[in-house]
Amino acid sequence: MNNRTVLLTHVSQLLTLRGENVPRRGPQMRDLGIISDGALLMGDGKIVAVGIADEVGRHELAANAEEIDCRNKVVLPGFVDSHTHPAFTSPRLIDFEKRIAGASYEEIAEAGGGIRSSIRGVREVTTEELAKYVLRALREMAAFGTTTVEAKSGYGLSFESEMKSLQAIRLASEQWPGTVVPTVLGAHVVPPEYRDNPDAYVAMVCNQMIPTVAEQKLASYVDVFCERGAFTPEQSARILQAAIEHGLKTRVHVCQLTATELAPLLKFHPASLDHMDFVSDADIATLARSDTVATLLPAANYFLGLGRFPPARKLIDNGVVVALATDYNPGTSPTSSMPFVLSVACTHMKMSPAEAVSAATFNGACALELQHRKGSLEPGKDADIAVIDAGDYRELAYWLGVNRCERVFFGGREI
Ligand SMILES: [Zn+2]
Repeated sequence: MNNRTVLLTHVSQLLTLRGENVPRRGPQMRDLGIISDGALLMGDGKIVAVGIADEVGRHELAANAEEIDCRNKVVLPGFVDSHTHPAFTSPRLIDFEKRIAGASYEEIAEAGGGIRSSIRGVREVTTEELAKYVLRALREMAAFGTTTVEAKSGYGLSFESEMKSLQAIRLASEQWPGTVVPTVLGAHVVPPEYRDNPDAYVAMVCNQMIPTVAEQKLASYVDVFCERGAFTPEQSARILQAAIEHGLKTRVHVCQLTATELAPLLKFHPASLDHMDFVSDADIATLARSDTVATLLPAANYFLGLGRFPPARKLIDNGVVVALATDYNPGTSPTSSMPFVLSVACTHMKMSPAEAVSAATFNGACALELQHRKGSLEPGKDADIAVIDAGDYRELAYWLGVNRCERVFFGGREI
C-alpha cells in the first residue's frame, strides 16, 4: 500500500499552491497555482511529478502506476489543521444548552459545565481511553481531507494529567496515518487547585512540566492562553522563556477576548499567534514584518453565536501571514471540519475562497514550520492529498455542512 505508485489524472482543477517555501501574504494567497486537466504522480510516499495530464502521463513511472480518473474532481494538498484540542472525553452539552438560554459563564460553571467538567473527564480516564477519543477526532478530521493536525493537551491541568494527555496524543498518532504535531498547553487556564496562587502553577509548568515534556520529547511546541482570566502577559512570558530554554518552540492563544499588546510575546518568535480577534492596528503592522502566522479560528466565533469575527481582511490586506484552523475543542468549537471553517471564513470574515484554501493548507503548514514537506503539491513533498468531488475549488467553501471529500492520501497511502 505504502509504496504503490498512483497517478491522479485528468483532474479538473489541480491546486498545486506551488511557489517558494515561504509564508504566503496578501495577493499571493489568491494564487493557488491551478492546473486544469492536471495530473499528479506519487510514489514512495512522495509526490513525483505534477503538471498537465498529457505531460505527466509520459513520465517513466506513470506506465506502471495505478491510474485514478479525476474528471470533475478538485485535487489539493491535504488540509493542515494547525490548532486543535482533541484530548478530552465528553461534549459540553450543559454549556451548549445553558448558553443558548442566555446563561453566563459563572452560571454554566455552577451548573457543572465549563472547562472544569472537561478537566474532570480527562483526570478520570486512562491514557488508553483518552487515546481513543483523540483517535476518533483524528479520523473525523481525515474524512474531511485533513492530513496534518496540531494537537494540544490542556484539559488535564496537573502534571500527571497533562503528561497523560500528551501520551494519549502520541498513542493515537501512532495509529493514524497522518502527521500529528503535539503541543503542551499546560497553561490553558489556572486549575481550581491553584486558584489562590496562580504563580505557583506557572512555576510548576516552568520547572516541572516543560522540562519533562522536553526530555521525553512529548511535544514540539509550548502554548499559553494569554488572556484575562487565564494567564497574564508576564506569566505567559515566563512560560515561553522556559519553553525556549528547554529547546521547545512556542505559539500563543491571544487577543481572543481582549486586546493584548503583542511585542512582549513576539520576543519569543512564536510560530503562530492564534485567535487574534482584538489585534491592534500597530500590531498588525508589526506582524506584517514577521513570519509569525496569525491563525484565525472563526468556527469558535460561529459556535458561540458571536456577531464579531477576527479581522481577516485587515490582516491579509496589510500583509500578515494568515492561517485557518478548526480549534476543535468541546467548549467553543466542536468541529473537525476544515471545509466548514473555510465556509465561515468566506461568509463571515470576507476571505475569498482562494485565500481560505491557502490559509488552510500552505499557511497552516507554515504555522507548524512544515512548509518544506507539506502544504503544496510539488515534486519531493509528502504525498498528502485530498480529492474532492467537485469541479471547482470554490465549492469547498460553498457546500455548507456537506462533506465532498472523496479520497485522502497520507504520504501516498490511501485509507
Ligand atoms: Zn484553542
